[in-house]
Amino acid sequence: MRSRRRPGRAVAAAAAVLVLGAGGLVSQTGGGAPAPAAGPVIRLAYRALQPGEPLLVFLDADPSVRSAAVSFLGDTAELRPAPGAPAGGRVFAFLGIDVQAKPGTHVLTVKVSRAGGAVETVRRDLAVADRAFPSTKLTLDPNYVTPPASRQARIKREAELVALATSVVTPAWLGDGPFAVPHDAPSWSNFGQRRLNNNVLASLHTGIDLRVPFGEPIRAANAGRVVLASDLYLGGKTVIIDHGLGVFSSYGHMSELKVKRGDAVAKGQTIGLCGTTGRSTGPHLHWSLKVRGARVDPEAMLRLPL
Ligand SMILES: [Zn+2]
Repeated sequence: MRSRRRPGRAVAAAAAVLVLGAGGLVSQTGGGAPAPAAGPVIRLAYRALQPGEPLLVFLDADPSVRSAAVSFLGDTAELRPAPGAPAGGRVFAFLGIDVQAKPGTHVLTVKVSRAGGAVETVRRDLAVADRAFPSTKLTLDPNYVTPPASRQARIKREAELVALATSVVTPAWLGDGPFAVPHDAPSWSNFGQRRLNNNVLASLHTGIDLRVPFGEPIRAANAGRVVLASDLYLGGKTVIIDHGLGVFSSYGHMSELKVKRGDAVAKGQTIGLCGTTGRSTGPHLHWSLKVRGARVDPEAMLRLPL
């Protein structure tokens, strides 16, 4: 097995903030200062506009705003009350650019409905840049890579179970401030790593691996509710937490689970112990995040101003 790392990834000190007004782009700032504009002012916060990146969309609502929704990349999300905002104040939504999204220009549209039936629309073209992900070449016997037929049914059933658990959008933010790492151990930063078998894409690594020693506690990256706590064939002992607004975090290969489905968890609460269950070659934590079905880099999630 040969491994090749590609840097190609700029890490910003903080999330970028893009301010949009009724006429399109009003100003682009590093600090999110409000821009003078007639009509709704939308703020976007993100680490980068690239595949595998989550975005926040904020609207400073006033009492005349009845509802607001954002559409991007074929997905439409309702804006909901932002953390700490008074009633009728700031609303927000999460968006995700999937790891396999096509780079190019995509239109972001925000529709704001006001009392009395008026609807205002803000549209803006966003350029999603290409991102070079690391890749690993495998030269393995396909019989070794492909699980036996007897296991395929179980793998398919469990994939459906995970898809079902992460398909329901809880219409409120359950989180508590920004996301935090589930353990301080160093990360391989291997999000989006493509595993090529004889130059054919064999698998895509849609999370990051943290080098956590065996048996150490794994903490919830944010507050939420446990929607899955099971022993999966590939993922091993896994916990999935619903943080609301379509955001789910997942923790795999644990040796022991400390929570069960339906439990409410606090940010930083121990949800399990590190292990090497499932398809794993040694103790580590596989940590992944989904935003409205888009697979995004957990390291980008840590940067979002929540
Ligand atoms: Zn992993």
